[in-house]
Amino acid sequence: MPATTSAPPAPPFRTVLVANRGEIACRVIRTLRRLGIRSVAVFSDADSGAPHVRLADVAVRLGPAEPQASYLDVDAVLRAAKATGTDAVHPGYGFLSESPALARACAAAGIAFVGPPVHALEVMGDKIGAKAHVARSGVPVVPGTAEPGLSDDALVARAADVGYPLLVKPSAGGGGKGMTVVRTPDELPAALAAARRVAASAFGDDALLLERYLAAPRHIGVQVLADAHGAVVHLGERECSLQRRHQKVVEESPSPVVDARTRARLGEAACAVARSVGYVGAGTVELLAEAAAPEDFFFIEMNTRLQVEHPVTELVTGLDLVELQLRVAAGEPLGLTQDDVRLTGHAVEARVYAEDPARAFLPTAGQVLVLDEPAGDGVRVDSGLSVGSEVGSTYDAMLSKVAAWGPDRATALARLDAALASTTVLGVTTNVPFLRRLVAHPEVRAGRLDTGLIERHLDQLA
Ligand code: ADP
Repeated sequence: MPATTSAPPAPPFRTVLVANRGEIACRVIRTLRRLGIRSVAVFSDADSGAPHVRLADVAVRLGPAEPQASYLDVDAVLRAAKATGTDAVHPGYGFLSESPALARACAAAGIAFVGPPVHALEVMGDKIGAKAHVARSGVPVVPGTAEPGLSDDALVARAADVGYPLLVKPSAGGGGKGMTVVRTPDELPAALAAARRVAASAFGDDALLLERYLAAPRHIGVQVLADAHGAVVHLGERECSLQRRHQKVVEESPSPVVDARTRARLGEAACAVARSVGYVGAGTVELLAEAAAPEDFFFIEMNTRLQVEHPVTELVTGLDLVELQLRVAAGEPLGLTQDDVRLTGHAVEARVYAEDPARAFLPTAGQVLVLDEPAGDGVRVDSGLSVGSEVGSTYDAMLSKVAAWGPDRATALARLDAALASTTVLGVTTNVPFLRRLVAHPEVRAGRLDTGLIERHLDQLA
């Protein structure tokens, strides 16, 4: 009898539009190619020759360089999707990735949105509502206000209960924008006024919440995956404590300080949060813990999309998160139980930014003249750059991500350092030398990480 060979699983879609740019658009298109799915790129006038445009099977112009008129324009994305016979839209991260308007427009056009249901986007898109919701599902949240629509006077009245120092946060926030630490009651009114202005202009919503400000906490994200048939699993945690100005710089998986018991507990909490909103797709539950009580984690928010740092999870699990996102968006079962998820070895990722650490991390600009990106054992580079790329201030300053896997943490860090050493970008100043000093720092080597580490050691690092 002939041996039975199983056919490769059928691609979940025929044509997928990637509503994004840069490294994440390239990364999504790579999985589409591997699965035999026709890829549609979209671009603004600033990106007509960009790598994601060249990598895709088809490319459609959205509009001028300004994000509002291109990558953030739901109608333009939908027009491109309809014109190309797209059957699913992958939004990447940032831009429209957490936009209920895009998810609704896709549904109305009979196109799959590669993300969670609108309800989950809405609940988690608002930090006040998300925290109130999560607290009801029994997961601890950072103490603070959780009521919508509080005026400045009402927030001032509640501040004494929250305690100082406290953090003023835009409810619709992202990227750390508008977050302000307030140390004494007399600073509060001005901080509220300033945060409202930033929130209104950046997010079109000036709602604010107050949170107890945890001193130099550790920040962890738990990756969850859910299908439309009720299966929910977690893929362990990512340690994201190396931050500058509330923005992540280096991430790793697993966390050097989370043991198997804590991992199981965090994973269960994250799955409970996902279940409580009927989550479908890939999402990340973000938690903080104080250095003095490293096992007591508090929920801060859920990111309802693929995260920048997802490669470290892929490196330790061997899974392709984009493929899984596509399959569950097509209604397929996850085909994965919690017992199937195995974490092997250790992975660390560093974000390469166009910025100058020696000049207060000011954004830099220029044309890439020479580009040498590392390769080698356990090394993975997610890049949206090529020779000739114009780097400017129109879009995110992150150019690429360099990640390394090793059987243990020390090997992963050594490989990451070697990979960064052979990363050359000429024409634009980058933070690569800073990243090398950071991953070589004794505190980082020892795994003693908290969100204040970079700031405390800036004189040695910048
Ligand atoms: P955003 O959505 O704008 O990124 P987050 O709520 O995720 O905002 O917070 C971003 C970062 O700010 C966190 O990683 C952490 O470093 C810091 N942070 C947030 N909330 C607190 C808090 N209550 N205490 C101390 N640091 C916090």
